Amino acid sequence: MTGAEIDTFTARLASFTDKGLRLEDAEALADKLVTRDREADDRRLCLECFHLSGQHGKTWDCRNWQRAGVALRAKDAQLSAALVFQLQRCDGFAPIQSKG
Ligand code: SF4
Repeated sequence: MTGAEIDTFTARLASFTDKGLRLEDAEALADKLVTRDREADDRRLCLECFHLSGQHGKTWDCRNWQRAGVALRAKDAQLSAALVFQLQRCDGFAPIQSKG
């Protein structure tokens, strides 16, 4: 990895563990993102999205559920770990940095 890749990897690791991931899961995902970035793959993780909210056991909340099309009612807008850990394209995605 380049220096920039190591810095990004380290920041993602901290972000993912802050969101409640086990270290080994966070490392695997951060590593997957290194490959994604090198390949200019435009898919994203919910873990990179501003709209990902609180974790409840093995589910997370999506605050942009209507745009994302993940539920018909707010109370059903929970995301499974399988989805949160999956690279995907989502119409509701907004990078954490933009807060938009
Ligand atoms: S808006 Fe899309 S990418 Fe963002 S948390 Fe919801 S489902 Fe995930």
